Amino acid sequence: MSNATCTKCGRPAFYFRAYTGERLCIKHFLESIEENVRRNIGKNKLFTWNDKIMVAASGGKDSSVLLYILHKIEQEFPHTELFALTIDEGVQGYTEQRAEIVRKVIKMAERDAGGRIEHYTASFKERYGYTLQEIVERSMKMGKGVSPCTYCGVLRRRLINVMAKELGATKVATGHNLDDEAQTILLNLGRGDIHRLARVGPKPIRELPGFVPRVKPLRYVPEEEIAVFSYLKGFPFMRSECRYIGTSMRGHLRVSLNRIDRLHPGFKYRIVQTFDQIQPILAEKSAHDVKVRPCKKCGEPTTGEICRACQLLEELGID
Ligand code: SF4
Ligand code: ZN
Repeated sequence: MSNATCTKCGRPAFYFRAYTGERLCIKHFLESIEENVRRNIGKNKLFTWNDKIMVAASGGKDSSVLLYILHKIEQEFPHTELFALTIDEGVQGYTEQRAEIVRKVIKMAERDAGGRIEHYTASFKERYGYTLQEIVERSMKMGKGVSPCTYCGVLRRRLINVMAKELGATKVATGHNLDDEAQTILLNLGRGDIHRLARVGPKPIRELPGFVPRVKPLRYVPEEEIAVFSYLKGFPFMRSECRYIGTSMRGHLRVSLNRIDRLHPGFKYRIVQTFDQIQPILAEKSAHDVKVRPCKKCGEPTTGEICRACQLLEELGID
C-alpha cells in the first residue's frame, strides 16, 4: 500500500490510515486496532471486573475480530468470563456456515491467547418453530409487506436477549463498527427519530429490567480496518451472501458515506465523535421515562402490551 515507513517503528509501512495521517507496519496496525478497543472499553466503562460477557458471534468479520480481541483482553481479568453465541436464523446456503466459521475463529483465539471459549448456538427453527426463510415465505404469501431483514433483526435481537439470560450473561458484546454507527446516526436523523437517535451509543443510556445490556467495543474501528485485521489474521469468511440482502436505505448510506470519506478522510469518524458530544443532551431530552414491562405473550421486556417479535409472529398466525 505504501513504500514509506511505519510512523511508530520505522519499518516498512503496510497501511496508511488517512484520517490520522499514520503509516503503520503490520505489527503496529494490529496493535492499533486492539488499542482502539481497549480505549473504548476504558473510556466508556463497557465492562466491570466480574462481567460474564456473551459475544454475539455471527461468523461475519466484525464479530470474529471482536471475539478474537475481547478474548485476548479478557485473559488479563481473572474474574470476568467470556463465551460466544451463534444464532442460525435459517437461510439456506448462508446461515449454516456461521457456526463453523465461529468455531474456527475460536480455535485461533485460543491458540494465540490461551484459555477457552465456550460456544453456544441457537436457531430460529428450535426457538420459533420456523426458519427465517419459512417466516418470510409465509409473510409473502399473506402479502404482509414486511422486509425479511425486519423479521431477522427483531427475532434475532429477542433470541440474543433470551439466550443471554438463560446462559447467565451480564453483558452482550456486539460487532457494530464505526461505519455501522455513522450510518445509524444519519439514518435516525433522516427519519427524524430522536428517541432512537438518543439511544445510539457504545452502551445503553440506562439499564432496563429484563434487558441484558449490549455494548459495542468496535464502535470506533472503521469497517475497512476490521476487514484488513481479519485478512491479516487469516480468519475464514462467509462464502456467500444472504439472499435477502437488498437495497435498504442503510445500503445507500453506506455507499455514499464511503464515497465522501474517501474524498474527506475522517468524515465517518467525525460523525460518530460529534454525535458522542451531543448524545448526553439528547439522552436527557428523550425517553427519560421509558417504562418497560414483560410482554404478555413471551415475558420479554417491552414498552407496549406485547413485544415487537410477538406482534410480527402473531400477524403471521405463529404463536
Ligand atoms: Fe438477516 Fe437481512 Fe442480514 Fe439476511 S441480510 S442475515 S435477512 S438482516
Ligand atoms: Zn413477546
